[in-house]
Amino acid sequence: MDPIRIAVVGVGKIARDQHLPAIAGNPAFSLAATVSPHDPGPKGVPHLASLDELIESGPAVDAVALCTPPQVRYELATMALKRGIHVFLEKPPGATLSEVVALRDRAGKVGVTLFAAWHSRFAAGVAPARAWLSERRIEKVSIVWREDVRVWHPGQAWIWEPGGLGVFDPGINALSILTHIMPRAVFLKSAVLSIPENRAAPIAADLSLCDTGGANIHMDLDWRQTGPQSWDIIVETDAGTLKLSSGGAVLSLPSGTEHNEDLEYPGLYARFANLIRGGRSDVDIDPLRLVADAFLRGRRESVAAFHD
Ligand code: NAP
Repeated sequence: MDPIRIAVVGVGKIARDQHLPAIAGNPAFSLAATVSPHDPGPKGVPHLASLDELIESGPAVDAVALCTPPQVRYELATMALKRGIHVFLEKPPGATLSEVVALRDRAGKVGVTLFAAWHSRFAAGVAPARAWLSERRIEKVSIVWREDVRVWHPGQAWIWEPGGLGVFDPGINALSILTHIMPRAVFLKSAVLSIPENRAAPIAADLSLCDTGGANIHMDLDWRQTGPQSWDIIVETDAGTLKLSSGGAVLSLPSGTEHNEDLEYPGLYARFANLIRGGRSDVDIDPLRLVADAFLRGRRESVAAFHD
C-alpha cells in the first residue's frame, strides 16, 4: 500500500517537537511538504508559505496535519476538506464549538477523514486508567494542572487572544483525559476565571464539575506555577485511589505504579492512518464543550497584568 502523503501546516513548537518525528517514524506516512508563513521548514522537504500555495502549485498530498494556533484552523481545514484532503486537527480542534461541528458535517458529506486529536488520551496511563475505572464507583476527583507559562509558552501571543484559551490550552488536555476515563458524563457546575488586566484569556481557573452519578470533580488550573510543575488527576473510588501524574504518563493504582514509554504522537498517527484506511472520522468535542461552558458560566475576576 502506498504511504499517505502528508503536509505539516504550521511549523512551530509542536510540529517540530512531535509531529515531524512521529511522521518520520511511521511508514504509513511520507512527509510531502511543510507549510508555514515565516518558518523555513526542515531541510530537504518542499516548503510553502501558505496552504493555498501548496494546493495550487505544491506537491500532491493526501492529508494535512494542522499544527497552527486554533484561531486559523477552520479556514485551513475547510480548504483541505473541499479538495478531498484528509485533516488531522491539533488540539483544541477549533476556536469555537460550532466551527468544529461544521467541519465534522462537511467531512461526513464529502467522505473525507477528519481527526480531532487529543494527544493526552494516548498517554501511557490513560487506557489502563479508563479500564480500571469502568468497574468502580467514583466518589471524588481532583485535578491539579499547574505550570509555568513562561517556560512552556514563551512569546506565544495567540494563546492570550480570544480563541487561544489561555490556561485552558494545557487545561483542555486534562479535560480530554477526564472525559475519556470517567464512566459517566461530566458537566460543569461553576467556575472562576482569573484574567490578567492586559490580556483576553485566563491565566488561572478554578472549576467545579460533577458526573451524572453525583461525584464532585474539582479542577485547579494555574499558569503562575514556578518550581515543580503538576499535571495530576486523582480519582477516589470504592476500591481505593487512582492517580494519573505527569500528564497521564504515570499511573498509580492501589496495586502499584506503572511508568511507561511516551507514545502519544506515534499513537495519534497510528490512529490517523487507521481512520484514513477505514474511511472514517473521529471528532469528539466533549473537552472543548467543557471549556466553552467554563467561559459561558464562569465568573471573571481581573488579576495582575501579565508580561512575558
Ligand atoms: P507555535 O509554536 O506558536 O506554532 C504555531 C505555528 O503556526 C507558528 O510557527 C506559525 O508559523 C504557524 N501558523 C500560524 N498561522 C498559520 C497559517 N495561517 N498557516 C500556516 N501556518 C500558520 O504553537 P505550538 O505550541 O506549536 O501550538 C500549536 C497548536 O498545537 C496549538 O493549538 C497548541 O494547543 C497545540 N499543542 C501545543 C503543544 C506544545 O507543547 N506547544 C502541545 C500539544 C499541542 P510561522 O512561525 O511560520 O509564522
